[in-house]
Amino acid sequence: MGVSVGVLASGSRGNSTIVQSSTTRILVDAGISCRETFKRMKAAGDDPQALSAILITHEHTDHVSGLLVLARKLKIPVFMTGATHQAWARALRDADGERPELAQLEFFSSGRGFQIGDIGVMPFTIPHDAADPVGFTFRADGMKVAIATDLGYMPPSVRDQLRGCDLLVLESNHDVEMLRVGSYPWSVKQRVMSRVGHLSNAALAEFFATDYDGHASYIVLAHLSEENNHPELARREAEKALSGRRTLLHNRVMLAAQAEPMQPIRF
Ligand SMILES: [Zn+2]
Ligand SMILES: [Zn+2]
Repeated sequence: MGVSVGVLASGSRGNSTIVQSSTTRILVDAGISCRETFKRMKAAGDDPQALSAILITHEHTDHVSGLLVLARKLKIPVFMTGATHQAWARALRDADGERPELAQLEFFSSGRGFQIGDIGVMPFTIPHDAADPVGFTFRADGMKVAIATDLGYMPPSVRDQLRGCDLLVLESNHDVEMLRVGSYPWSVKQRVMSRVGHLSNAALAEFFATDYDGHASYIVLAHLSEENNHPELARREAEKALSGRRTLLHNRVMLAAQAEPMQPIRF
């Protein structure tokens, strides 16, 4: 078996993705409860006990709410940056007065690659209003996969990381017009739209139309807003931008959902 990627949950109520090679299984973010994570893995025929490690992109609740329980139950290493760990521990301590303990904690730094089993992991900085937020690329069995959600815009440094990928999981958070006229308070709208907020359908389409190298077989649209987006709107905008690039062959567009896991994509 080669590489497979399965999004267990995606959106502002919880994010969790499994990247797996023939020997190694990584849970990227732990934003749904332990019970729900196990349930969704089992439904996909996956054994939670076979997970090798948990990787955290940033400390926002929708990426870490299941972390403590998952780490305790599975007894596997948790990887995050030092600044993310500080912010995460501070937030939890503020809530319960006690500092949360992770038995196996490993720190990484943005821009410095490391290895988990036979998967090469490269964390890269993304513009988002968290302590030290990152996206990841993964390399195993000759394939390259990227995950980049929770970013206010797409700087050149991120576009560089997305080159040569066989599978992209990218944020397509909101339709700008829906957000503008929607029910969010103005302060929240401003946050989402800011350079450290979330990526709009249009901003992602701009990347597809200009800088994208067209290499991927699959593109998964992720972290869609339930309030300010429609899956079909996001898909249409992405496909339109991609179809303008006549040299592209594959680039099948798929949607990650909040309520149910996506069928894993296998190479
Ligand atoms: Zn976030
Ligand atoms: Zn998020």
